[in-house]
Amino acid sequence: MPKKNKRIKKHYTILLPSVSAVVFLLLLFFIFWQGGAVPKHDIYVSSENPKQGETILIKINGKYSGLSGYFDNEKLNFFRNGEYSDWSALLGIDATHQPGKYKILVSVLGEKMEKKILVLSGDFSSVKMAITKELKDKGYTGEKIISNIKNNDNPALNEVLAKFTPKANFNSPFSFPLENMRKSGLDFGEFVSTGNNQIQHFGVDLGAVTGTEVHAANDGKIVLAKNLSNYGKTIIIDHGLGIFSMYLHLDAFMASLNQDVKKAQVIGLSGNSGLSTAPHLHFSIRDNGTRIDPLLFIKTSEKTGENFNLASIANSLLKILK
Ligand SMILES: [Zn+2]
Repeated sequence: MPKKNKRIKKHYTILLPSVSAVVFLLLLFFIFWQGGAVPKHDIYVSSENPKQGETILIKINGKYSGLSGYFDNEKLNFFRNGEYSDWSALLGIDATHQPGKYKILVSVLGEKMEKKILVLSGDFSSVKMAITKELKDKGYTGEKIISNIKNNDNPALNEVLAKFTPKANFNSPFSFPLENMRKSGLDFGEFVSTGNNQIQHFGVDLGAVTGTEVHAANDGKIVLAKNLSNYGKTIIIDHGLGIFSMYLHLDAFMASLNQDVKKAQVIGLSGNSGLSTAPHLHFSIRDNGTRIDPLLFIKTSEKTGENFNLASIANSLLKILK
């Protein structure tokens, strides 16, 4: 018996290293095969049933040069946070996008893929806006508010928002514009009625006393720094790929038109300028023309920094080995 045990033990000592070597090789093969020249593609979406105003992260695993995609005839703008990162696209569902079933279509190296998503209603609430004495003293009436938007403020905004910068000015997720973030006033998507007119609020109102530092949500270029009729002192940053952030009712500008700014840089001080009854910061983000909840957009953009699959691990390994 002791003799037999010794033989078994000897057998195992030879076998163990070769087993681990095979496992190691298989693991390496599996990891590199995922990110290799013939990748197996798949569409990852952060949500399959987004509400109006939400942003979805779309990720395609693998490393290659060309890919294109569409959502309901809207072109997707793919980007990556470095040469070894997977391709991501942030898809904003406009606050007014018709709820229902849609397809995300992506084409990679001639391979076509699709993902079904279901857009749900944002269930936005409605509020009445009283024209206070303070607003009347500032010259605002129900009709004046609407005509300001139509004839002055929105044309000024639309002129800069229509321009598309084909490359990303940023290489990291977006961040919040205030150090202390709290909602105060109108929420995203709320319908506001003044007399016979109704407008939808395409941003969030954040609590901030006059003079609070307002930070850039990401790297970009200032494409508007102007005092508008309703929106007051307004800054718009172009982050590239059709993504813009907007800061309204400022008290002062701390950056100027055409200036390149970095994420978290102070670009202005919050205030009460324009159509505003109390000091606050109105913050909006537009993604490829869509009006979206800016806070949900930032939360979704944070996910672009995560690794979702083995291809990312393989790419990270390659980067270390390089
Ligand atoms: Zn607002």
